[in-house]
Amino acid sequence: MASIFSRIAAGEIPCYKVAETDQYLAFLDINPLAKGHTLVIPKQETDYIFDLDDNLLAGLVLFAKKVALAIEQTVPCERIGIAVIGLEVPHAHLHLVPINSLHDLDFTKPRVKITKEEYAQLAQEIGQKV
Ligand code: AMP
Repeated sequence: MASIFSRIAAGEIPCYKVAETDQYLAFLDINPLAKGHTLVIPKQETDYIFDLDDNLLAGLVLFAKKVALAIEQTVPCERIGIAVIGLEVPHAHLHLVPINSLHDLDFTKPRVKITKEEYAQLAQEIGQKV
């Protein structure tokens, strides 16, 4: 069965899309650690990030760099933290999270609530800068 992220990439499930290319997609996390928390995926489904083909992995990081710089210009923060967890969704992805302290990248902490309108605006504002 296709992963939820494959279904998002195929347009079967909605997302707050930030940016995409033929091979990659960036969209807002629905349970974010901070405003602007974005997931970056290869559209091709592979569970474990270190099973990705070298070129696809390199391209993922380069695409994530563009997205991270756009988040940084949109959400006030010290820098963009990057994390790979993958324990919930078996489809390789990078978390890009605006951070100001070590604690901001703690995935056990309570998530922030964002309205649909805020999600849509954030996705649009970040996407314009990618
Ligand atoms: P992990 O696999 O542990 O890296 O966590 C998966 C992440 O994907 C979590 O931060 C979820 O909030 C996020 N997530 C799960 N389903 C969706 C979805 N449909 N749209 C956006 N983000 C999602």
